[in-house]
Amino acid sequence: MSDTRPQLKDLTLDALRAHLAKCGDAPWRADQIAAWVYTRGVEDPAAMTDLSADLRARLAADWRWRALEVEAVERSADGTRKARLAAADGEIVEAVLIPEARRTTLCVSTQVGCPLACSFCATGALGFRRNLSTAEIIDQVMRMRELLPEDRQITNVVFMGMGEPLLNLPHVLSAVELLLHPKAFAFAPRRVTVSTAGVVPKIAPLLEAAPVNLAVSLHATTDAVRDVLVPLNRRFPLELLMETLRGLPRLGPRRPIFFEYTLIRNVNDAPEDARRLVRLLRGLPSKVNAIPMNPHPGSPYRPPEPAVAERFLAELASRGVRVTLRRPRGSDIAAACGQLAARASGSRFVKPPLRSAENPAGGV
Ligand code: SF4
Repeated sequence: MSDTRPQLKDLTLDALRAHLAKCGDAPWRADQIAAWVYTRGVEDPAAMTDLSADLRARLAADWRWRALEVEAVERSADGTRKARLAAADGEIVEAVLIPEARRTTLCVSTQVGCPLACSFCATGALGFRRNLSTAEIIDQVMRMRELLPEDRQITNVVFMGMGEPLLNLPHVLSAVELLLHPKAFAFAPRRVTVSTAGVVPKIAPLLEAAPVNLAVSLHATTDAVRDVLVPLNRRFPLELLMETLRGLPRLGPRRPIFFEYTLIRNVNDAPEDARRLVRLLRGLPSKVNAIPMNPHPGSPYRPPEPAVAERFLAELASRGVRVTLRRPRGSDIAAACGQLAARASGSRFVKPPLRSAENPAGGV
């Protein structure tokens, strides 16, 4: 029979405090529980030695403590790791760890599949199955952290995996609250980025509730092209999207909006696209992340020739736009942007030796 008890990680700290108070426990016990779970990675209440035996027994009886289990991990030649994570109902999501010299970024999913069906994206081709819970979003951080050696930490979290975060806003906001809370994961707000394909009515509510970075998946500079690449554009066209972004309060030059722009050969990589992009961004504190298309099976789209991508970037830079050309990370294991499809990309998926007392170095 399936376990119907609630997941503890679905609760924000305030909600956990309120729950404890209702049960007659001291609300500040929530801080101790959070320190065990989120700071130390302990998910067994029996091991929480600073709690009373009675509270430990009730916590063990009343709650589920894990929402996702690692099914398999694939490692790219460039060090990127992609994990398939299984939920209690058997649904699979993917999370990607991207180690770089000075930081380690975790890309988390927010939905199983995605309803937005962007035409260049493997996740979009899956269709939509369901939203992830707060606990399932947080467990991506918990499980992926266990893949790292002890001397390496996750430094940045980006909500850019499977799904459109703003279509699952309540759970995304609760997860962000746990990520930022000083008694939980304690990430600095500038280390957390939430991406959207342009769900216009939810952008201001996100930023009002959470001081995170905003990334907008733009990918095109005309409605005609964006309607095809990001069909959501038919509901929220470019002019409305850009007007909404211009109207956001508390943005300044130190908090740019990140614009993701997948460069696709002969679709959106012409100098005229670059010049239109300059006009679209005028007056907005912005930074463009240009990413050459990551081809995946069944997709008609290809990346531009390197010289064409360079010309696109030079065109932007010469007009004062801050732009970076992102190397596709993990493209050999289908872990790069737009490639997550909850399926093995080859034979390199392995059962992971997770970090543990016996294996402190992890090892995937
Ligand atoms: S690009 Fe993002 S929003 Fe578009 S289909 Fe893929 S996961 Fe969904």
